Amino acid sequence: MNHYSVIKATLEAKLKELMQRAADIEARLSSPGSADWEENATESEDDEVLSSVGSMTKNEIQEIKLALNRIENGHYGKCTSCGEPIAKARLEDLPYATRCVRCA
Ligand SMILES: [Zn+2]
Repeated sequence: MNHYSVIKATLEAKLKELMQRAADIEARLSSPGSADWEENATESEDDEVLSSVGSMTKNEIQEIKLALNRIENGHYGKCTSCGEPIAKARLEDLPYATRCVRCA
């Protein structure tokens, strides 16, 4: 039994939520109705916000996938920079942290 199973479940739930959010953002960004530029000025500002939220969401999805891989291969919880264990409090705060507090 992997002792990171709780964290793994948390990450999997978070991943699901983020994938759903990314899909919603994609759907809104690709929605039709942007032909009239002037009328859609506000809308395209919203789109900019949406696409930056979208890329943040995608980054987070990648981070979580990496963390899940690291749990699978037993590297989870070790700093990728100095190899020291990452403090439990930090992992609870940021479950997909790949570096310890000192190297972050
Ligand atoms: Zn470190």
